[in-house]
Amino acid sequence: MWEIIGPGILMLRARTGVGRICNSYLVDGILIEPCSYGYGEGPSWVEWIESKNRPPVTAVFLSHPHGDHVRSLRHIAERLKLPVRGPACKYVDAPIQAGEILNGWKVLHAPGHHPQMLCLLKDNVLIAGDAAGGDGWPVLIKPSAGGDIDDHRNSCSRFASMPLDLVLPAHGDLFTNARDYFQKESLRVS
Ligand SMILES: [Zn+2]
Repeated sequence: MWEIIGPGILMLRARTGVGRICNSYLVDGILIEPCSYGYGEGPSWVEWIESKNRPPVTAVFLSHPHGDHVRSLRHIAERLKLPVRGPACKYVDAPIQAGEILNGWKVLHAPGHHPQMLCLLKDNVLIAGDAAGGDGWPVLIKPSAGGDIDDHRNSCSRFASMPLDLVLPAHGDLFTNARDYFQKESLRVS
């Protein structure tokens, strides 16, 4: 189920090719986008939450309020008896702002895919939400769903200037060629 993908970083991959669920990550006690409950993953999540041997969780994080990210977020947070942290919206109990630190991870605001997109950064590892996508996942979406190409270019240009070693997206596989990825995205014209 969970894979160890880096020092202290666990990943629960979304099923390949399914857009309605997200990769989940567990780092430094933060459970990120635990949202697949209801798509056949429910029993595993409940078992995992109740398991005595699981790593401790002290925070639940939402990157942005799109339906695929919140599908079962509240259910899982309630089972864990933890507030949801993330951008101010109806799914979040305790909003967090850009610049704040959550369990050692810096919160960054990266609009483009969604105006409220928050990412987490620590030790050159970026937890990207939908500010980046693996395997060619299309992160720039139509304006009616929150997309803004100018914001996207600016956010990507900022990420391209950072020394990122690893990007953990909510969809698709993790990747290490961050500079190339973000440079290309920062030059997009559509
Ligand atoms: Zn999204």
